[in-house]
Amino acid sequence: MDKVLSLDIGASSIKSGLVDANGSIYEEKRTVIKEESYTGFIDAVKSIMEELSAKPAGITAALPGGYDIEKDEIFAPNLHILNGRHIKNDLESIFNIKVLVENDANLAAYGEYVFGDKKSVKNMVFCTLGSGFGGGLILNGRLLQSNITLFEIGHMSIDFQGRQCGCGRNGCLDEYCSTGGLMEIYKNIAGKESNPVQLGEFASTGDAYALKAFKEYGRLLAGAFANIAALFCPEKIKFGGGLSELSEYYMQSMVEEFNKIIFPAYKGRVKIERAVLKNQAGMAGGAALFFGL
Ligand SMILES: [Zn+2]
Repeated sequence: MDKVLSLDIGASSIKSGLVDANGSIYEEKRTVIKEESYTGFIDAVKSIMEELSAKPAGITAALPGGYDIEKDEIFAPNLHILNGRHIKNDLESIFNIKVLVENDANLAAYGEYVFGDKKSVKNMVFCTLGSGFGGGLILNGRLLQSNITLFEIGHMSIDFQGRQCGCGRNGCLDEYCSTGGLMEIYKNIAGKESNPVQLGEFASTGDAYALKAFKEYGRLLAGAFANIAALFCPEKIKFGGGLSELSEYYMQSMVEEFNKIIFPAYKGRVKIERAVLKNQAGMAGGAALFFGL
């Protein structure tokens, strides 16, 4: 069976694997980008390609940022080694191979959908809860795509007087429903700093401040999900990313609040579920899109 090389690009390393049309991943590994430059990035991809057991049918690249598909131009201000670069053209000419580029959250959404929900669901939203708040939208069984990467849900504001986001606006979900947002809630409640792993440990021992912080986080997340539901009443909203691992501490408050605030006519029509593919969703989604699944 044909396999595609899926790259999940991070700030200092690239996660990679050979993926077939069943979503099975082989030769999975992480490669450090040794030199912090575009050349360093290309060198890392070269070393990944050299070590593969067979030539792939193509390459898919999941980017932590925006991408202009028409101009083949990356918009990733937080990842300066790739910002403004023409990755598709460059990789295609270096390796003489077909290359597909998409935003990482969009690919994760498509991976979750194709290898988990395609048989039973037509319209779905997938959100990643991590250092930011990202996502992708599946409409009538297809990933919503255009000539620029879509669904920047993290930059939907829930408070126009709220904290300023990296994008310049105030009150973005990226600031509130991310790990940074959870830490800010905890700081306001407990009067001290923490990190998500610690907070999970505190909550597991019944720490009242940590449990309260998670409860409040769940309430905010419900607000985000209710906004998404209002857009087009998807059959399902799925959430993944690092913070989804701690969902046992906020799932209840989130579902309660969601049922309270969802647009009344849509009540009972939108399921909320945790993702199943974890950090492999992006690679699987790259393959799914490449093979036209
Ligand atoms: Zn923003």
